[in-house]
Amino acid sequence: MYLAKDIIKEGNPILRKLSTNVPLPLNPDDYACAKGLFEYMVASEIEELTEKYQIRPGVGIAAPQVGINKRMFAINCTDFLDKKKTKYAFVFINPIITSKSKEMVYLPGGEGCLSVERDTKDLVTPRHLRITVKSAILDFATNKIKTITMTLWGYPAIVFQHEYDHLDGILYTDKMYPLDKIECEPLYTIDETEDTEEE
Ligand code: ZN
Repeated sequence: MYLAKDIIKEGNPILRKLSTNVPLPLNPDDYACAKGLFEYMVASEIEELTEKYQIRPGVGIAAPQVGINKRMFAINCTDFLDKKKTKYAFVFINPIITSKSKEMVYLPGGEGCLSVERDTKDLVTPRHLRITVKSAILDFATNKIKTITMTLWGYPAIVFQHEYDHLDGILYTDKMYPLDKIECEPLYTIDETEDTEEE
């Protein structure tokens, strides 16, 4: 599993490179990376483990953030606006966004990133409200790769777009603006729901 010290920080050129597709089936190094990213996400949720391994909790981590310029990332987030509180815990490999809504939204309070340590509060990043993605995913129960298509709306769509940008060398800080420069609506009103986790 990756530890906090393995996370590359803003300013490192690795975060700015265009990542390359992952050859499938996975070779042992790429498998280890995928598994490490997923485990970081799983540990993020468990306070005991975040303390033990000095992990900064997050809801997404992309391979470039651990120094590997390959097109894969893990997310682990709950759609807290959904009545069913659907959980999205996946490792996406060679993902593509096949369609995006015209409608844009932003996460109130702004985004966060394991690679960004400065305070970017009150600056927000417009994202597509809905995206459809096609990707290989690694199923850890069977260790098999399968190709899936899924539509994401709202919070998980924002998390996905944030992580996807890492594969293209883009950070959320490149696309953040003060509220008076933003034309779209917030995903939700901040005093109606609890604070969200960090990406
Ligand atoms: Zn990030």
